[in-house]
Amino acid sequence: MSAQIELRDIDKHYGAFHALKRVNLNIEKGSFVALVGPSGCGKSTLLRSIAGLETITSGSISIAGAPMTGVPPRKRDVAMVFQSYALYPHMTVEQNLTYSLRLHGVGKAEAIQKAAEVAATTGLSALLKRYPRELSGGQRQRVAMGRAIIRNPKAFLFDEPLSNLDAALRVHMRKEIRSLHDRLGATSVYVTHDQIEAMTMADHVVVMRDGRIEQQGSPLELYDRPVSRFVAGFIGSPAMNFVNAVVGADGRSAVLDTSGGGTVLLPEALDVGRAIVVGLRPEHLRAVADKGQFTLIVGNVESTGSTTFISSDDELVTLVQSERTGLAAGDRVPLTIASEHVHVFDPETGLRI
Ligand code: ATP
Repeated sequence: MSAQIELRDIDKHYGAFHALKRVNLNIEKGSFVALVGPSGCGKSTLLRSIAGLETITSGSISIAGAPMTGVPPRKRDVAMVFQSYALYPHMTVEQNLTYSLRLHGVGKAEAIQKAAEVAATTGLSALLKRYPRELSGGQRQRVAMGRAIIRNPKAFLFDEPLSNLDAALRVHMRKEIRSLHDRLGATSVYVTHDQIEAMTMADHVVVMRDGRIEQQGSPLELYDRPVSRFVAGFIGSPAMNFVNAVVGADGRSAVLDTSGGGTVLLPEALDVGRAIVVGLRPEHLRAVADKGQFTLIVGNVESTGSTTFISSDDELVTLVQSERTGLAAGDRVPLTIASEHVHVFDPETGLRI
């Protein structure tokens, strides 16, 4: 299947600042793609470039096979949904929904009919006569989505649409946006700095770093085989533990540089004595009764009720337990981890070995 949105060798300079560096990305028709990465990595710039709100310095963008060079935003047939909702405060929900249709010459009766249909899809039917100030944050975000849907665009571009909502509503709206995407058979590109949002909503996750794509793949591909320490640390919560280590005399184990000491088994043999960084996800560490592979000396214990987070005194290793523990600072916890869960990175390049 050809890509609905194709980005080829995109570069973007803001004066001397190089914001996007040779970005190549195919966004398939009907897919939900999340762009994630830390603040300033270029996610919004990339999304805004697709929308035509930024002019790229070089490279090409095509939407549904048509080159977009020189095409202004309103002719690109994509709809943006912003964090700020960008609703017109002096217009009712119905007027907010119909405004762009009216601008495009759609008759009043037809526009109102369409608004009623979109309101039914987005759960706004009872709110059509209200003004934005009379709505909750979640309802405002639904109006913003309704306004995007009503024009039946080729793609939806979301720029951190849920950042202004509280945690519970965010979780609820994630599901709403994804189910709307599925019902409409839409193509969606979704910018977020929240990896959980990306992992739970998207079919395909693109991790960006310093203006480049560091890795892209399905959520579980990124979790299971991160190409670098950067991706490994970004995907997964709580974050992966990184410990400096040296390959042991048998070539199959890593001797850990932690206060508790010990070893872990490597997934494959490496040169004896080589300096490496091992990545151990907290959820893969098992506390055992007596002899573990390595030892965690407890520094801090935090419980949320359902989950207990135990971190080592040198703050290098965090362990997650779903049951309550009687552990206190200074206790020694023997740990094991299966070798297939041990990630190995080069200390210099940060790349997966
Ligand atoms: P955030 O999550 O903080 O929104 P982001 O990944 O979306 O971050 P962008 O908004 O794409 O980041 O910005 C990428 C980089 O480009 C940042 O370092 C930013 O300071 C810079 N930048 C963005 N817009 C401009 C501009 N108009 N002029 C100069 N630099 C800019």
